[in-house]
Amino acid sequence: MALVSSTPLLSTARAEGYCIGAFNVHTLEMLQAVVEAAEETRSPLIIQSTVGTVKHLGADYIAAAATVAANRSSVPIALHLDHCSDFNIIMQCIRAGYTSVMIDASHDPFDKNVAETRKVVEAASAVGVNVEAELGRVGGVEDDIVVDERDALLADPEECARFVELTGVHTLAPAIGTAHGIYKGDPNIDFDRIGRIASRVSVPLVLHGGSGIPEDQVRRAVSLGMSKMNVATELRIVFSDAIKQVFANNPDENDPRKYMVPAKQALKAAAIEKMRLCGSIGKA
Ligand SMILES: [Zn+2]
Repeated sequence: MALVSSTPLLSTARAEGYCIGAFNVHTLEMLQAVVEAAEETRSPLIIQSTVGTVKHLGADYIAAAATVAANRSSVPIALHLDHCSDFNIIMQCIRAGYTSVMIDASHDPFDKNVAETRKVVEAASAVGVNVEAELGRVGGVEDDIVVDERDALLADPEECARFVELTGVHTLAPAIGTAHGIYKGDPNIDFDRIGRIASRVSVPLVLHGGSGIPEDQVRRAVSLGMSKMNVATELRIVFSDAIKQVFANNPDENDPRKYMVPAKQALKAAAIEKMRLCGSIGKA
């Protein structure tokens, strides 16, 4: 089938209480690995690329590869642009064939975030592309901030409701204590806040920073209304570690068709594990 919009996938996931893994890929092998994982487990899939990967590979190359994957596949696959604050890159990806985009104006004050997000929602909706936006600030792994500061960065439930109403955004990523990268200790997720946001906002909610969140915490977040979980860093590490292992064992290896195989297999296994945590297995 063709690439699909992620909105109906995520709406169904929210209604039925599971979550869909959204995996950042940077190479053709990484893309193929997550697609194979989805097919083998009959799981709906969201393939994502960051702005960095768009600049590295080209939006057209990524969309072409994802389109081929979707056409060959019998599970629904969406192609999403992760964190982007550049309107021109968003439009470039939509033209290339992305089926959803994230406008991240969370660094701006509330009113400016609303205005920026609404601008993207209007343009994207006209061509049937759905939009994710962020409220509050998802921390980085290096962040070492005290509780008061942390609290100020988390999404306010009333503001979330107002934001969705004012922007018409299709999915919302509220900052609830997760961080990008690999956690030093356990993540400090504000579950009570997820519940309060979910009770006020009916659109699917997105859990950013899905690398290394323990199983019970993922399940709890999903049960409270998180319908999409972004995973990037963990997959990149798994993929790279497998390649390093090949060269550690055989420094003379020089065939990408060989040294990429264990990396692809490791990434596929990691993606299947995330699909299991998300509860999306068998939902396609
Ligand atoms: Zn993120």
